[in-house]
Amino acid sequence: MSYHSLKEICKICKNEDKEFWEVIRADDCCERQVSPDESLQDMNKMYEAMLSADASYDKKKRSASRLSGGDGALFWEYVESGMNLSGSFMGKVIARAVCMAETNACMGRIVAAPTAGSCGVIPAVLISYQEKTGIDNKKCAMALFTAAGIGEVISQKASLSGAAGGCQAEIGSAAAMAAGMTVHLQGGTPQQICDAAAIALKSFLGLTCDPVGGLVEVPCIKRNAAAAEAAVSACDMVMAGIKSAIPADEVIEAMNEIGHDMPEKYKETAQGGLAVTESAVRKTRPRTRI
Ligand code: SF4
Repeated sequence: MSYHSLKEICKICKNEDKEFWEVIRADDCCERQVSPDESLQDMNKMYEAMLSADASYDKKKRSASRLSGGDGALFWEYVESGMNLSGSFMGKVIARAVCMAETNACMGRIVAAPTAGSCGVIPAVLISYQEKTGIDNKKCAMALFTAAGIGEVISQKASLSGAAGGCQAEIGSAAAMAAGMTVHLQGGTPQQICDAAAIALKSFLGLTCDPVGGLVEVPCIKRNAAAAEAAVSACDMVMAGIKSAIPADEVIEAMNEIGHDMPEKYKETAQGGLAVTESAVRKTRPRTRI
């Protein structure tokens, strides 16, 4: 691995006159012994899998637990009515994030980027961006390298797993990856990519992993929508000239510390937080037949 921090990636960009995504791709080429074209093609396949998961959403499907399904369709209808306050682009981002996370809950095929629980964040932003701007799949694949680089640094310096670091590590990381990716798409600098990742991740520090019934459904699905929104707003803040007061690497280190200090009951054990609320217990109680 040629980098161990986001600061190092920025330094390589400067020294070698490369874009952020190119540094990450070069590393992939080195690690997997593939050509730059092969590396890009493989990432493109990943994006195509995201597109196909987005297209395959089935509003009639319900999860085995019956805790989820159909909410994405409700949100699409609301966006199409034009009544939603979040506007057309953000409305589509929210709808797609919910649909993708529901597809995961209903055992559909998704791309776990960075995890299955947070699978809706990156594609919701990227597919909606492509629809809005008309960029081709190749450009989307390039953007995914930027997201991957941020995720790689987080996994090295902290964790991407809810069981290890709480939901901040899953949903927070997905938000950071999507924020940096969107800044790349908007033509931002490597430093701006890092600032957006920092701003997005800061919004989720301390977030517990407390899934109802131990299932990746409640609150996971709606958190995907929140993270996708946070990514877009972090990108817009940065592109407006706002900087992160705390550098991204330090935010990741803070997340790692918080994750270590977080009690086990908030690390995917379903023994604390939302998982033990009265409604959660009622909804997941085994049904008995008389
Ligand atoms: S609550 Fe836990 S299982 Fe659900 S998305 Fe967050 S980290 Fe994943």
